[in-house]
Amino acid sequence: MNLLSVVVPCYNEEECVPLFYQELMKQEACFKEEGVDLEVIYVDDGSRDGTAREVKKLHEQDGRVRLVSFSRNFGKEAAMFAGLEKSKGDYVVLMDADLQDPPALLPQMYQALTKEGYDSIATRRVSRKGEPPIRSLFARCFYQLMRKISKTEIMDGARDYRLMTRQMVDAILSMREYNRFTKGIFGWVGFETKWMEYENVERAKGETKWSFWKLFLYSLEGITAFSTVPLMFASFMGVLFCILAFVLILFTIVRKLIFGDPVSGWPSLVCIIALVSGVQLFCLGILGQYLAKTYMEVKNRPIYVVKEEI
Ligand code: UDP
Ligand code: MG
Repeated sequence: MNLLSVVVPCYNEEECVPLFYQELMKQEACFKEEGVDLEVIYVDDGSRDGTAREVKKLHEQDGRVRLVSFSRNFGKEAAMFAGLEKSKGDYVVLMDADLQDPPALLPQMYQALTKEGYDSIATRRVSRKGEPPIRSLFARCFYQLMRKISKTEIMDGARDYRLMTRQMVDAILSMREYNRFTKGIFGWVGFETKWMEYENVERAKGETKWSFWKLFLYSLEGITAFSTVPLMFASFMGVLFCILAFVLILFTIVRKLIFGDPVSGWPSLVCIIALVSGVQLFCLGILGQYLAKTYMEVKNRPIYVVKEEI
């Protein structure tokens, strides 16, 4: 018998935990036919509601349900990493608790993985219906920018919903970086991936844990983790301003020789100083971002802290 581990990061999802279990178990018969055992690992990411209690209830009914509880909220990235680390399956799938990753797709994904010889089956949503338009716009811009400045392939609309072989999971686990951007890590480790598309599904219960600001910071995480192009931007601006300065010097000398008027031009001077110092601070900021990330990596803190495990 093969074992399939289902990893579910949960943050304040007490309503979704039992719902998710019910929906998943509707697929159980399909897996029995294939000779596949299931284990469900709920990773409670420091929830402040009854998430852990709900999972324990499920565990009492069904021993295949496991719980990993964090000591505080470490974020979805940490929760996914912990789930992968605790999983024992020959195959592992990452799924959201809110049923936005439809379990009905799972048997089909498993078929593709085992019969067609892929290492991973990934999903992407082709629509973003039900999402605020401004968020979709920023998301699209982010993916376009990433495609330009990073060598790692990051798909637009890609979900974290992904079925992987043990080999790929081990590769992901070998990347123990603190600033995690899993969408990039999936691409970085490589392997043969098949993409499956589906229409966006709205969350079953509760509300999204990602505010616009949190998503914005997460996108910066993605950029600094998988591209160093912004660092090059500083050098590029430096060269550009050197050329500009050279032209200005020539212009000033020539003007002095022809018109003999060196004094006027206070406003232009102020503008130039303001512009150049602005650009300098901006570049310094970029440098600071990378330095901060390096600082956090060097500290080598654990990615998560477990409070309770069942
Ligand atoms: N999540 C988590 N830790 C967090 C935020 C979210 O484990 O700090 C989980 C959440 O419980 C859900 C999944 O990550 O299972 C996706 O979150 P959500 O549905 O809020 O995001 P959205 O689908 O709106 O992007
Ligand atoms: Mg969701």
